[in-house]
Amino acid sequence: MTLPVQKPIRNYDVGELRRLDLAHHLPAQSDYKLQRELGGSRIITRAEGCTITDAEGKSLLDGMAGLWCVNVGYGRDELARVAYEQMLELPYYNTFFKTATPPPVRLAAKIAEKMQASNPALTHVFFNSSGSEANDTIFRLVRHYWALKGQPKRKIFISRKNAYHGSTVAGASLGGMTFMHEQGDLPIPGVEHVLQPYQFGEGFGEDPDAFATRVANSIEERILGVGAENVAAFIGEPVQGAGGVIIPPDSYWPKVEAICRKYGILLICDEVICGFGRLGHWFGHQHWGIKPDLIAMAKGLSSGYLPISAVGVSSEIVNTLVEHGGDFVHGYTYSGHPTCCAVALANIEIMENEDLIERTRTVTGPYLAKVLKRLENHPLVGEARSIGLIGAVEIVSEPGTNKRFTGKEGTAGPIVRDLCIKNGLMVRGIRDSLVMCPPLIITEAEIDRLVDILHQSLNEAEPVL
Ligand code: PLP
Repeated sequence: MTLPVQKPIRNYDVGELRRLDLAHHLPAQSDYKLQRELGGSRIITRAEGCTITDAEGKSLLDGMAGLWCVNVGYGRDELARVAYEQMLELPYYNTFFKTATPPPVRLAAKIAEKMQASNPALTHVFFNSSGSEANDTIFRLVRHYWALKGQPKRKIFISRKNAYHGSTVAGASLGGMTFMHEQGDLPIPGVEHVLQPYQFGEGFGEDPDAFATRVANSIEERILGVGAENVAAFIGEPVQGAGGVIIPPDSYWPKVEAICRKYGILLICDEVICGFGRLGHWFGHQHWGIKPDLIAMAKGLSSGYLPISAVGVSSEIVNTLVEHGGDFVHGYTYSGHPTCCAVALANIEIMENEDLIERTRTVTGPYLAKVLKRLENHPLVGEARSIGLIGAVEIVSEPGTNKRFTGKEGTAGPIVRDLCIKNGLMVRGIRDSLVMCPPLIITEAEIDRLVDILHQSLNEAEPVL
């Protein structure tokens, strides 16, 4: 095999790229008026470890692991080699009509091993290309399952306000973001949204267990409101990511699980961000010891090196499909794409060999929590929370409260984020908070730098806010 030993460092004509970008490219989730006002998109040209570099040569510590996904960090030679070898042997074949290739079979077995460590009932895996598609698969599979069980009225999905489950029609409908629903007449019928476990924003000062009970009870109330016989499933991210890194009180998930069991409703965990080590476990739900019936996973599954997602499915659902027979008439051209699966498998092996999950749980996660907590002494910070290697900083106008800057409500996060980027750190501003989700290979020294830049940027924001 002849692969270049040296990584290419190309020089780009930034002006030309910007012109082409404006003339022809519509970037995702973007304001195209703003894209024009700024003279084009931010252009990232290379990355190594936890550092990304833009077309102008400016380097930034990537506090977001790309888009919550580059768990093993950038520049992994071995993943490039695996993709190269697989492409030479068999770049593509599909998995339609009872077909398989070696990589999806091996990857399914590996994912099953990780799921079954805490829940032997999760036996099977269905592949897709994105997190949104995984949730679309779940949407159709769950309704099909209930129909086969002779309960076709069980169609309703219960989700949370401010949840994020993707951008497709089903994904955005399951999600609870009203600004997304406003475009395209969503949600589609059959999705109900209940309270989110956002203690800082919606239960400030309340006893955490009482808050967890109140929020979990909103699920039960909705089940009773629409009729339990009509409810198919409850779906939730173990920690809401795009909603602002909402970490629920400890008793929340066990209460949710008990409600689902009481009414015979399927429990779905959307692990697209939390899966593959983010919370210091292979899957985020394992932190709370609950046992979902279905799991959506993507992002960290391949560390973003190639697009792939998966749905973990319980034996009860699989057995029902087997018993009844007939096609599950669902699947994508790229379901089980051999090159994507081979890379995902190698990515999981890196996590195993480098003990990245254990390290997140016992070393880097606790270290981030410790240094981030110090930011709570800053007058602009109402709360600095994290779990594993995902965290958030709440920006407030009065220390010790959850009061926001009046007139600027919802904008403090992006203001401080822009200062962070100027200062060499990529984080995300969500309303009045900053969120972070660095690669799992981040070192303690890099965590110090991340928090130092947050601190400096908060200082610089004080006169502006
Ligand atoms: N679910 C969750 C929890 C996510 O965070 C995301 C993306 O951020 C998705 C689903 C959608 O994944 P994708 O963007 O790959 O479609």
